[in-house]
Amino acid sequence: MKDYEKKKAHLLTTQGVHCPVCFKKFVESDRIELAHRLRKDNPHVKMFGLSVIDHVSNLAATHKNCNSAVLINRATDPIQAHEKVVDILSQIMLNDPLVFEYKALMKAFDNIERRYIVNIVSVSQYEILENFFQHYRDL
Ligand SMILES: [Zn+2]
Repeated sequence: MKDYEKKKAHLLTTQGVHCPVCFKKFVESDRIELAHRLRKDNPHVKMFGLSVIDHVSNLAATHKNCNSAVLINRATDPIQAHEKVVDILSQIMLNDPLVFEYKALMKAFDNIERRYIVNIVSVSQYEILENFFQHYRDL
């Protein structure tokens, strides 16, 4: 199974077999797309890297017409955007703390603006990441 299909299968398991935008159940004839929450464009890929942007937590399985509705606009909603990056970095670390490419993730971490991390869970995740990357910087 290709990565794309794996992600789609995972999302349909976790979000359920309905579209998170219009809440309609997917039917066989629907063309289901993987919609990015943080946009997959050059600025975002440069700032946060593909492992964050293409992470399953940055995706939603939607109808083609519903795709753009899951978008998190970093300019108008920086808190949600930054907390999404913190959440994804935390998940990557938890799932694979030893072998992941920490340099790319460190770059993503360095591009998080601390002032936009306000949610209590995100703050503690942020602090764990800060300690973690500090350790790598010291190596
Ligand atoms: Zn839909």
